[in-house]
Amino acid sequence: MNRLNPTLEKLVSFLLKTPDEAGVFRRMAVENFGIYKRQYAIACVCLLIIAGTTAYSAYIMGPIVKDVFYGNDLNRAIVLSTIIVCIFLVKGFVTYIQTVILNKIGNNIVARYQRRIFDHLLNLDVAFFSRQHSATLVSQLNQNVIGVRDMLNTVILGYVRDLVTLIGLIGVMFYRDPYMSSAVFIFGPIVLWTLARYARRVKVIAQQEIRINAQVATAMQEASHGISVLKAFTMENQLRTKLNALTKLAEERSNKIARITARTGPLTETLTGLAVAGVTAYGGWRVINHGYEPSDLTSFMTALLLAYEPAKKLARLRIVLERSMVNARMIYEVLDTPIPKKDLDNDNVVTFKDGEIVFDDVTFSYDVFQGARMGNEEQDVYKTPPVLKNLTFTAQAGKTTALVGPSGGGKSTIISLLQRFYEPENGLIFIDGEDISKLGVYNLRSQIAYVSQSPVLFQGSVRDNLRYARPDASDMEIEEAAKSAQAHDFITALPEGYDTQMGENGANLSGGQRQRLSIARAIVRNAPILLLDEATSALDNQSEALVQAALEELMKDKTTLVIAHRLSTISSADSIIVIDGGELVEQGRHEDLVAASHGVYARLHDVNAS
Ligand code: ADP
Repeated sequence: MNRLNPTLEKLVSFLLKTPDEAGVFRRMAVENFGIYKRQYAIACVCLLIIAGTTAYSAYIMGPIVKDVFYGNDLNRAIVLSTIIVCIFLVKGFVTYIQTVILNKIGNNIVARYQRRIFDHLLNLDVAFFSRQHSATLVSQLNQNVIGVRDMLNTVILGYVRDLVTLIGLIGVMFYRDPYMSSAVFIFGPIVLWTLARYARRVKVIAQQEIRINAQVATAMQEASHGISVLKAFTMENQLRTKLNALTKLAEERSNKIARITARTGPLTETLTGLAVAGVTAYGGWRVINHGYEPSDLTSFMTALLLAYEPAKKLARLRIVLERSMVNARMIYEVLDTPIPKKDLDNDNVVTFKDGEIVFDDVTFSYDVFQGARMGNEEQDVYKTPPVLKNLTFTAQAGKTTALVGPSGGGKSTIISLLQRFYEPENGLIFIDGEDISKLGVYNLRSQIAYVSQSPVLFQGSVRDNLRYARPDASDMEIEEAAKSAQAHDFITALPEGYDTQMGENGANLSGGQRQRLSIARAIVRNAPILLLDEATSALDNQSEALVQAALEELMKDKTTLVIAHRLSTISSADSIIVIDGGELVEQGRHEDLVAASHGVYARLHDVNAS
C-alpha cells in the first residue's frame, strides 16, 4: 500500500474507525492528493489565512471595547475600523481563490474517475455487463463519482479549515481566559461521542439510497427507450405506480439521512446555549466582583460564538464522511473487478487467409451471478447446465454455414465463443488451424465482421458509425460499402447525407435501414470471417429483399457463419448445421436434410413452409 504523509495518516485513523474504511480513504487520498499537491498547498495556505482572519476578528474585540468604548479614543476607533475592513477584504478574496481552486480540483477528479471507470469498463468481460442493468450501473457510477469529489474537497478541506479555525478561536479563548476555556473540554467529548453513534446508521441508509436512485434512473431510461411498446401495451399506470413507489422510497431514505444529520442540530444548539449562558453568568460575576476586564470577556465571547459554526460542521463530519465512503467503495468495486486474463494483444499475430472454422469437442456453460449488483457482497456464482455439449463441426473456408435449430439451442453461444467473449470449458476452437485461445483478442476480432440480430448504432453521424468498423477506411470506401449494402440511396436522402446525426440507436431510421447500415459497417470491416445473426423481425417484403441483396454482397468469398432464420439463406447455404440442446444433431445440405424426413431439420422446414 502506498504511504501517506504521517500527519494525514493520523487524521485518517482518527476519523475512520475501521481498517476497511481507512483503507478505502487512504487509497483515494494517495491517488488524488499527490496529483494536486500544488493546488492543495495553495488551498491550505488560503484556509490558514481564513482561519487567522476569523480568529483575529475575535481577538480585536478586546481592544475595541477597551480603547474605543471605555477609552473614548476616536483615532484608535478609525485605525481599528480600517483593520476590520482589511481583515474582511482579505478573507473574502482568499475565500474566492480557495473556492475556485477546490472546484477546479473537484471537476478534474470527476473527469479523471470517469475516464478511468470507462476505460476499465471497456476492458471488462461481456459477462460483467450481463450481470446488471446498464442504466443502473451508469447511474450508480455517476452518483458515486460526485460523492467522491465531495468527500475529498468539501469534507476534507472543509475539515482542515474548520479545525484550524476552531484551534485559532480556542487559542484566543485561552489567551483571554484559560479557566473558562477549560469548559470547552468538558462539553466537546460528550458531543463527539453522541455523534459517532449517528454516523454508523447513515452508512446503511446511504447505500440503500444510491441503489434506489439508480433504480429510478433505470425505470426512466427504460421508459424512454421502450416508449412505443410501453404505450402500445398501455403500461403507463403500472409503470407510474412502480416509479411512484421507488421515488417514495428514495425520498424516505433521503429524509431519514436528513433527520439523522439534523438531529445533531438540537444537540449542539442546546450545548452552545448552555455554554454561552454559563460564560455570561460566570464572566459577569468575575467582572463585577473581581475586576476582570470587560474587554477580555467580550473578546472571549466573540471567539466562543464564532467557534460555534466550525464546531458544528466538524461534529457532523463523520456522518457526511460515512456517506462518501459508501460512494468510494462502490467505485473501487468496479475498478477492482478483475480484467479477464486473456491477452488483449500478444506477439502471436496471425493473419487468416481462408478462415476455416473448426469446433473440436467444445463444451461450455455460463457462469450465473445470483444477487449481483454493486455494493452487494453476497453474490453466489453457479454454472448453468452445459449450453454446448461436445460440439464438433467444421465451417468450410469461403463458404456459408447456416446454424439452425430451436431457440435456446446454443447458436448465439457458438458465435460468442468464436469471438472469445467467453472461453470454452473443454475443447478447442481453430481458425485456419490456429487455436484461437492462443491469439490476442484484438488480433482475432479484427479479422471478424459481426452483424448482430438487432443493429446497434452509436452516437455520431452515419459516416462515423460506418467508420467504427475500420478507422482508416476512406470516404470512398465507406460510400462503396454503403452502395453494396443498398444503403447509399437512403443515406443521401437524409437531411445531411452521410453527416446526419443518429438518434438514439438510429431512432430516426427504419428497422430495415438500420440493418442495412450494420451490414454496410461489416462490409467496411473487410474481414475474412463473417458472423451473422440474422434478423427476421419487422421487415416488409421490399426491405427484406434489399437486406437480402446486401447480405449476399457481404457474404461473397467470406467464411460465413450465419444463425439463419430466412428460408432463402438456409436453402442457399453451403452447409447447414442443426443445433438442438447444445448438440449437433444434423449436418448437410438443404436437400439432403429435407429428404431425411424424420430429422429435426425436416420438421423445422415443415413448420416454416406451412
Ligand atoms: P440460441 O441462440 O440457439 O437461441 P443461446 O446460445 O442464446 O441459444 O442460448 C443457449 C442457452 O444458454 C439458453 O438456455 C440460454 O438461456 C442460455 N444463456 C444464454 N446466454 C446466457 C447468459 N449470458 N447467461 C446465462 N445463460 C445464458
